[in-house]
Amino acid sequence: MDIRKNLLRIKAELPDHVTLVAVTKTKSVELIKQAYDAGHRQFGENKVQEMVEKQARLPDDVEWHMIGHVQRNKVKYMAPFVNLIHGVDSLKLLKEIDKQAQKHQRKIACLLQIKIASEESKFGISKADAHALLISDELATLKHIEIKGLMGMATFTDDENIIREEFKFLASCVEEFRSLERSNVTFDVLSMGMSGDYNIAIAHGSTMVRIGSSIFGSRS
Ligand SMILES: *Cc1c(COP(=O)(O)O)cnc(C)c1O
Repeated sequence: MDIRKNLLRIKAELPDHVTLVAVTKTKSVELIKQAYDAGHRQFGENKVQEMVEKQARLPDDVEWHMIGHVQRNKVKYMAPFVNLIHGVDSLKLLKEIDKQAQKHQRKIACLLQIKIASEESKFGISKADAHALLISDELATLKHIEIKGLMGMATFTDDENIIREEFKFLASCVEEFRSLERSNVTFDVLSMGMSGDYNIAIAHGSTMVRIGSSIFGSRS
C-alpha cells in the first residue's frame, strides 16, 4: 500500500468544499505517520481507547474525529482533544459531552448521526427524533457543545440506487433542519461517504468524507 500516493490521489480528486477524514481504525501509528508526513491532519477513529492511545503518540496538530458509536462513560477520555464527534445519537450523550467539555473549558463540535440505512447494524436516530432534539429547550442550555451538522452511513450494498436514495434523504434532512439553526446549532457539515460510495455522497451534497481502506488498505 502506497499510503502517500493513495492519499494525494484522493485529495486531488475531491472538490475544494469537501473535507477528507482519513479513517485510521486498526492501523498502526507508523502507518498513520506516513499520512501525516504526506501533509494530512484529519484522522478518524471509531473506538475511544484506540484514539486516545494514538493521540498520545502523534503530533498535537492532528485533528481527531470520533466516527464510531460513543458510550457515555468514554467521553471523558477524549474530551481534552477531540475535534469532532460524528456519532451523536441522543440528548443524554450530548449532555455528557457538554459536561466533559466544560471541565476543559472548551466547546466540542458534534454531528447528529441519522439512521439512513435499513441494516440493523447501523446506529443513529430517526429524523423525527433528531427534530425533537433540535427544538428541545434543554439543548439551548448546553453551552459547551456545538452541533455542526449531520452524519450518516449508507447501506453496504452494490445497489447504487439504494445508496443514492439514502444520501438524498440525509441531504434533505439538512435542508429541512436549516431553519432550526441557533447559537449552538448550524448545518454546515454533512458527513457522508466512505471508500465505496464517496463519489455518490459528494454528488448529493456531502461536505466531509470518511475514507479508510482506499488509503490504508483493507482491514483484517
Ligand atoms: C470504518 C468507517 C469508515 C471508513 O470505511 P472505509 O470503507 O474503509 O473507507 C467510515 N465511516 C465510519 C463510521 C467507519 O466506521
